[in-house]
Amino acid sequence: MKKYNFNAGPAILPQIAIDNTLEAIKDFKGTGLSILEVSHRSKEFDAVMVDAIALFKELLSVPEGYQVLFVGGGASTQFFHVPYNLLNKKAAYLVTGSWASKAKKEAELFGEVVVVASSKDKNYSYIPKGYTIPTDADYFHITTNNTIFGTEILTDLDSPVPLVADMSSDILSRPVDVSKYGLIYGGAQKNMGPAGVTFVIVREDILGKVDRKLPAMVDYRTHIESGSMYNTPPVVCVFTMLETLKWVKAQGGVKEMEKRDTEKANLLYAELERNKLINPVAETDSRSRMNVTFVLKPEYAELEKDLLDFAKARGMEGIKGHRSVGGFRASLYNALPLDSVQALVDCLKDFEKSH
Ligand SMILES: *Cc1c(COP(=O)(O)O)cnc(C)c1O
Repeated sequence: MKKYNFNAGPAILPQIAIDNTLEAIKDFKGTGLSILEVSHRSKEFDAVMVDAIALFKELLSVPEGYQVLFVGGGASTQFFHVPYNLLNKKAAYLVTGSWASKAKKEAELFGEVVVVASSKDKNYSYIPKGYTIPTDADYFHITTNNTIFGTEILTDLDSPVPLVADMSSDILSRPVDVSKYGLIYGGAQKNMGPAGVTFVIVREDILGKVDRKLPAMVDYRTHIESGSMYNTPPVVCVFTMLETLKWVKAQGGVKEMEKRDTEKANLLYAELERNKLINPVAETDSRSRMNVTFVLKPEYAELEKDLLDFAKARGMEGIKGHRSVGGFRASLYNALPLDSVQALVDCLKDFEKSH
């Protein structure tokens, strides 16, 4: 049976990235050795890292003065690396979901944290507006896409202090004006590669301003100076990520990703609005293009397991909602084809007909 992969993360990857990884595991660039068993200092792997940094910069038009790092630890490690490197006295956070809330909690270990706004009052179903960012904060932290709740910030905000963004689940889904950010980070495993590698884009002039001493692995400057090779990087993950970046470029880059992701999301949201059994979760002006959350209307709530089974029988994978929202979540990352979304829409229509 054909599978339709709506997993939230780790998530669907382009088939060519998987195929080329398999090949490199068997024979890495004709060396006669597996990528699993060569030095990260070999000229073959060094080229992978250098190319990955260059291509990521190219795809996002990263301007002068910014550095790109690929490190381990996941986005959750960045939750404390960011304040370690940037928080001297005070930081501001926009709390739009569980990940934002976890990031804020880590920052509290390092100094004063001001929550400028939160959407917790409505279980994070919207993006707050009309808040004020304190001009004496060391930085302002946002989560651009709230993977669990299905909301997204689709514009590059203006901030009077360095803007720091967790873009784990919507990186490479639209052109971003990097010059408006001080730092962007995320785990690769949603929209950009396999689990195990984390990206950081940082404007160099915001570093070196905190009073505390930094362990080498925590200090972004260590990874800048060493070209992300201070210690052993997650070699295979970086390879697969580079293959994914090459695929994005071959498709037409982030502008083309934006076009496709918007089309896919519009197709699914239109069905959710039409279907008499279903309600979308996120408020209309806050909807995520990457993670689409929906529930059965209260009068049909008892059909939840039936719909899950119905969808499973048709090859729909990963559409069960996160426990903090319930219902359903379909993740429509870059590598997910439009026909998978059409298959889900057809499935929801057929389920409606049978009830
Ligand atoms: C998945 C996710 C994280 C956590 O990423 P890890 O790499 O598992 O630490 C953080 N923020 C967002 C927005 C996410 O989607």
